[in-house]
Amino acid sequence: MSDFGNKAIAGYIREYYKAAVAIAPDHLEQREFGFGSFASRIAVRHTAFKSDRELRAYLVDTAPLHVDYSAAYYKDPEAPMDKKGWLGSELRFDIDAGDIVKLPCRIEHGKEWACEKCLQAAKEEVVRLIENFLVPDFGFSARELEINFSGNRGYHVHVRKESVLSLDKRAREEISNYIFGNDPDYDAFFYTVRVDPRHEKQMGPKPKEGGWRGKVATAFLNAASSKEDLTSLGIDKVTASWIFRNIAKVREQVAEGNWDFVRIPNRESVFENLLSRQVINQGNRIDKGVTNDPSHLMRLPNSIHGGTGLIAKKVPSLAALEIFDPMKGAIAFKTGELKVKADSRYRLSMNGREFGPYKNEELELPAYAATYLYLKGLADIINSK
Ligand SMILES: [Zn+2]
Repeated sequence: MSDFGNKAIAGYIREYYKAAVAIAPDHLEQREFGFGSFASRIAVRHTAFKSDRELRAYLVDTAPLHVDYSAAYYKDPEAPMDKKGWLGSELRFDIDAGDIVKLPCRIEHGKEWACEKCLQAAKEEVVRLIENFLVPDFGFSARELEINFSGNRGYHVHVRKESVLSLDKRAREEISNYIFGNDPDYDAFFYTVRVDPRHEKQMGPKPKEGGWRGKVATAFLNAASSKEDLTSLGIDKVTASWIFRNIAKVREQVAEGNWDFVRIPNRESVFENLLSRQVINQGNRIDKGVTNDPSHLMRLPNSIHGGTGLIAKKVPSLAALEIFDPMKGAIAFKTGELKVKADSRYRLSMNGREFGPYKNEELELPAYAATYLYLKGLADIINSK
């Protein structure tokens, strides 16, 4: 980082905001804004704007490195926290490749870098969040969801349905606990019924049921079509072979909730494995602050991410997400070249081209690649005159 480099970045950010279309979010006047600089991720907050024009003028004037806005709508967004007059908050989810547990490529490149595989893995979690939870279990329609690339290595999903706005912190916690499968209660899934004075029957979830019950039963039956999948759930080989041989009968009985027929000795740990395969892979963090805190600030869609120089780009639909390549579609600084001194062990793929690795080399790079490496601390932008 250098004064010269920082000024170059600010210049690009300013030009981006001069030309950007539709930067203001809905309910603009009721949102709190925060801004980050090289010195501090959120250096200014409790700011508000009356119009798109006013917001844009501020962005062009100050060229902030980060722009955040509140999930909440307030009567007076500029007032101190307890005097803002809370009117409601969107529900938001933050999916970050850095929080995906056991991502093999991370062992190679470390937590600070995001490669194509990281970005793809984050995208898959977003699809699961929407298709396995938000739509079927909560009944949100695709139209009520907004998907945004985070600008770095993940995605933000916003739910703007009227009915979520008034949810308090506790209700938000319940939603995140449900989605992230925290504290699952085994006894609520499996129970015994007495069929006669001498016999009890083990009952459990049916695949046709809604919510987690249906997910667990379906995941088990999916695994039951392969002996390897069964043993990978922690089922011993003898039991796995038996299930596999009797698959038709197992399906028929589990469909009725009769798990007594499937005698899995260590059902509780198998259940935990089934559950952990279905949850959204975000470790323990899953940025609970984002989902649970109604006053959280989050990156403004279509603003610049100051850690990469990419656009935190709005993705218009789930179908568009399938083909969205952030290292192409979220490039902000498309024109010009910058002279850099680069020292990076990574191979950067951007705009269909590859950059690096570099060993303390001076070279000219397209502005988007130069700023990306600079903001990641892997290159210095140097004066070419
Ligand atoms: Zn990776």
